[in-house]
Amino acid sequence: MNIHEYQGKEILSSFGVRTQRGIVARNAKEAVDAAKELTEQTGTGWHVIKAQVHAGGRGKGGGVKLAKNLKEVEDIAGDIIGMNLVTPQTSAEGKKVHQVLVAEDVYYPGDSEPEEYYMSVLLNRSTGRNMIMYSTEGGMDIETVAEETPHLIFTEDIDPATGLLGFQARRIAFNLGLSGQAFKEMVKFVMALYKAFEKSDSSLFEINPVLKTSDDKILAVDAKVTLDDNALFRHKDYAEMRDIREENPTEVEAKEVGLNYVDLDGNVGCMVNGAGLAMATMDLIKMAGGEPANFLDVGGTADAKRVEEAFRLILKDDKVEAILVNIFGGIVRCDRVAQGIVDAYKNMGDAINVPIIVRLQGTNAEKAKELIDNSGLKVYSAVEFKEAADKVQEVLS
Ligand code: GDP
Ligand code: MN
Repeated sequence: MNIHEYQGKEILSSFGVRTQRGIVARNAKEAVDAAKELTEQTGTGWHVIKAQVHAGGRGKGGGVKLAKNLKEVEDIAGDIIGMNLVTPQTSAEGKKVHQVLVAEDVYYPGDSEPEEYYMSVLLNRSTGRNMIMYSTEGGMDIETVAEETPHLIFTEDIDPATGLLGFQARRIAFNLGLSGQAFKEMVKFVMALYKAFEKSDSSLFEINPVLKTSDDKILAVDAKVTLDDNALFRHKDYAEMRDIREENPTEVEAKEVGLNYVDLDGNVGCMVNGAGLAMATMDLIKMAGGEPANFLDVGGTADAKRVEEAFRLILKDDKVEAILVNIFGGIVRCDRVAQGIVDAYKNMGDAINVPIIVRLQGTNAEKAKELIDNSGLKVYSAVEFKEAADKVQEVLS
């Protein structure tokens, strides 16, 4: 589950990670009140107004702006709240901004260049361990750094038996070129950050930038936090941080009925059982010249009700021009699935307005094909995977 920057910072702070202080606001008036309160706390009169949406690159899209007085806070917050923020990580329509974070300006004006670093904590899939990935090149896309100057990205793998060790935190501070007080601060920062990662059951922390101020404080200026859905049951307070407005409505609906659905841009809807087969199906659609409209794993019980729910979800996407059903009957019998498809089709009537290609393989596959072929419905059946993909191609052209 993704959360907002301000929520991520709350989690970080609760574990002693120093962060840029801020208060969230839902309208221009709240933003002004927030700025006044921050000035009382910090003494700084300058604030940065940051759009809270689940997407990075907000700065580039005009979603992060500096306000030098309360009038500017009011104007900027008023402009940003309600706007459709388009960033390199959103669709072309962008994301509607419902709230902003009013934060203290931590780049002391008039001071020497502030130092920005990149730091993330995530699973290293090749070693099966958590790692801290970091770079001196903060504030820019890490993808660009990885492409152009890969030698400026460092990683530190963490042994789960010992956790992050002191010497590792010191190595990080050293590689970032720090010394003196800033070195000590970075060690503290890294230790607290890793503790926060473990204790919060997160799957990703990305802090870009981590800032070194001219008076040698180290703090998180941004925070992208992804929590592990499977661990939310033991963090009721984090589970409440979910902002459903940021999620794809069809994906939300799918989750509610227990289907694993991911929206994509193509024109061929897929209904598959098993994540691996779903991935293979998407590949095959592409190889046959189509583009998958979604990833959908209906799971083990493909009965009429579930098949119908799946059809309804797929058909919400009006880019869908054909549906490919690819089910392997291992535990579930193919003839039962076929009956499910026929029943769902009959129930839904005109709602199904695109051709359906069904490939059922495994237990009772022949019987299933017979059922579909004799149903008199506009459903094409196939036994071989390739045959199914070619059929898709045929109905699209
Ligand atoms: P992102 O664009 O979504 O990654 O949002 P960030 O939170 O990283 O902010 C974007 C950029 O705004 C940062 O890289 C900083 O350069 C700048 N920024 C963030 N906070 C401040 C601040 O307090 N003062 C100033 N002057 N700039 C800031
Ligand atoms: Mn950032």
